[in-house]
Amino acid sequence: MPLFTMVKRALANVTGKPATLMYPATPAKRYEGTRGHVVIAIEDCIYCGNCQRHCVSQAITVDRAARTWEIDRLRCIICGRCAEVCPKDCIFVEPDYHPSTTGPAVEFVQGPPPAPPKEEKKPKAEE
Ligand code: SF4
Ligand code: SF4
Repeated sequence: MPLFTMVKRALANVTGKPATLMYPATPAKRYEGTRGHVVIAIEDCIYCGNCQRHCVSQAITVDRAARTWEIDRLRCIICGRCAEVCPKDCIFVEPDYHPSTTGPAVEFVQGPPPAPPKEEKKPKAEE
């Protein structure tokens, strides 16, 4: 590279705007279809375990007995497969990125208690 071109580029780099964003101080750009992080609407979950079985990185753990759903954010690659296979459409891929972390990133979601059994209708008393 000729010296003049090199100096011109170096000056442009020094005086120009940074090529990267100061994330997270400056929010990341989001586009249509940006895959930020996975969320669940736990109240609609039936604990079938489909999302766990299909997760390509074993990031999800479903416990039907305890009515819990867990995701390890450091394992999740945000492929969206869990959302595709959920029969209740209660997993979503949100466009916002999850905050960065250096520690464990397992998110635990406790589902609501099961609905009480419906009362059986009493037969009408014969007159
Ligand atoms: S696939 Fe959907 S309904 Fe089944 S356990 Fe996962 S989130 Fe719940
Ligand atoms: S988005 Fe992909 S990697 Fe992340 S939990 Fe769902 S299936 Fe697993």
